[in-house]
This record gives sequence, C-alpha cells and structure tokens, in this order.
Amino acid sequence: MALLPNQNITRRAVPWYAFFMQEGTFLRRNLPQAVGKKFFHAEHTCHESNALPVVHHSKYVCDLPANHRFPMGKFPKVLKCLLDDQVIRNKQVWAPKLASEQLLAGVHTEDYLKRFIGGKTTDDEQRRTGFRWSEGIVQRCRYETGGTVLAAEIALQRGLACSTAGGTHHAFPDYGSGFCLLNDLAVTAKHLVSESASRRKILIVDLDVHQGDGTAYIFRDDPDVFTFSVHCGKNFPLRKQQSDLDISVEEHMEDKEYLATVEAHLPWLLETFRPDLVLYDAGVDPHWEDELGRLRLTDQGLYQRDLYVLNTMVGKGIPIATVIGGGYSRDIDKLALRHSIVHRAATKVWKEKRM
Ligand SMILES: [Zn+2]
Repeated sequence: MALLPNQNITRRAVPWYAFFMQEGTFLRRNLPQAVGKKFFHAEHTCHESNALPVVHHSKYVCDLPANHRFPMGKFPKVLKCLLDDQVIRNKQVWAPKLASEQLLAGVHTEDYLKRFIGGKTTDDEQRRTGFRWSEGIVQRCRYETGGTVLAAEIALQRGLACSTAGGTHHAFPDYGSGFCLLNDLAVTAKHLVSESASRRKILIVDLDVHQGDGTAYIFRDDPDVFTFSVHCGKNFPLRKQQSDLDISVEEHMEDKEYLATVEAHLPWLLETFRPDLVLYDAGVDPHWEDELGRLRLTDQGLYQRDLYVLNTMVGKGIPIATVIGGGYSRDIDKLALRHSIVHRAATKVWKEKRM
C-alpha cells in the first residue's frame, strides 16, 4: 500500500482498491461452524455466503425535514456504492432485527425509553439531540442498534463483520445528544457481556473525531468494557467524560501523526486488557473535508487507519465488529463513499487473511 498515491477518493478511477474487487483471487478457508448457532438479532441471515458479513437494513434511514444538517441519506448510499463497485454482493448482506426494549434497557433508563419510544421527550431534549421526534426516527435508531448487536454476534463467530450504520456514542442512559438517541455501542457491549456464561471483555475503539462521551460515562465503572477514544480535544462535546483511555489530539492533525498516535496505543492496550471482542467506531469525521471535524486526514489516511485496526485485531485472532460513526458533508455521494472505506478495508483483510 505504500506505493499508492496519497489522494482523495473520487467516484471513478479508484485504483487503490480496485485490486481486491476481483472475485476468486484469494483462497478461502472453510466457514467456521456457524450452522446451528443462533443469531438472535437477525431478521435475515446469510449462512451460505463465505464473504465478509455486512449488516444493513433499509430502515436504517427515515425522513427528515429538508435541509436538515444530519446527512440521513448516507446509510442506503453506503451499501449502494459497495454493491455498485462490486466490493460486496447482495448475498453477503445480513439484516438485523429491531432492537427490543428489553435489549435497550441494558443501558437506557426505563423512563427515557418510555418517553423516547412514546414520543414524550420535551422540546429541550429534542433540541439537544438535533432531531425532532418522529415514529421514523425511533424505528431508525432501533434498527441501527439492532445492526450493531448483530454485527458483533456475527463477528464472535466469524471474526469480522461490518454494519453500514452505528456509532451513536453521545447517547447517555437517560438522554440523547449530538445526533445520538440510543447508544448502540453500549447496548451491544452490555448485551454481550451479560449474555455470556464466562467472563467476556470488550474493547471499544472509538476513532470518531468526537469523544465517545456517552459510552465513556456508561462504562466508567465497568471492568469488562474498556473505552478507548482518540478525538480532537477542541470539538464537541464541550464537556468531556473520562474514557478508560482518552487521546485528545490537536486541531489540524494530518495522516502521519494521527496514525502514529493510534499505533502507539493500540498494541499495549490489547496486551494489557486482552479483549474477547472489539467494537470499532470508524468515524470518518477526522477527514479534512468534514463539516464538523477539525482534523486533516485524507481518504488514504482513513483507509490506512482502518486497515491497521482491522489487521491488528484479525492478526491476533480478536473478533471485531465495525460501525461507521460520524461523517458530515452536504455531498451525500462523496460522504457515503468515504464511509465505505472501512468496508473496503475489511474486504481486503477478509480476503488476505482467508477468513
Ligand atoms: Zn463524530
């Protein structure tokens, strides 16, 4: 990859990932013994496909008022550009179930769930989230959370799985914030820790440009879930929480320094904490063109970051599930393509490691 040009992705002429779009280039290991095991959170499973599991639901999206700042249209487009570019095929797409209230209650308070699902949150609460309440937004968030849970369940069996949404790390147990209404990462981690007969440790690697404050708060006293956040200090949220490991970086940081920062911490963290599963928030808002990030990563930098994280985990045999995290642009096509970097990196790792 060192020979590849340090350039931004455009819709055409993307030579740096074209090489792993061909089918059948790599030998495949036989599927793990997944048959007979249950994926409790799947509406649709893909046991027959031996390609990278991608989790997506058409209900990841809902209507928003025109000119709303949140780029809701990106979710279906992430999947579409992966299919159009033949990075993935339809037969490897799994659909999650709607997250049940019981599942959500592992993290969120009964009162908040009742009010959020029932449309009883106040105007102030809604303002803080950035969304007016609607039935659609509730459904969207519940499918998105179900998607992260399903991706993690699949990862535990197959080593790696990627959702096309998720990473709503600003949601707290009793309120939503910063475009995050339910904390999918926290719900997933809590669920997987509590359902396991033996001790299960989960590492959340949050490389979204914003601190994962909700997640940090939820697991502040939980020895089974380690929260690692690399974020731009001078950015939302103003009031930070304490993650298990926070790396606050300066504004305008570029690829090389950013990658060195991640590489300086991840190996010793794995050695020390020894997780049984990693949840990876691959937010693309550290990108130089992002409307809300303040760093200067390129597409190539994000790709190398994702490859590094994925290769490190898969190389050590640690299951990893990815979510797309934050990314903000008025140009939805460009943004969706940027979000698909993690799936492209995962496809490369999946094939090279013969998973
Ligand atoms: Zn963000």
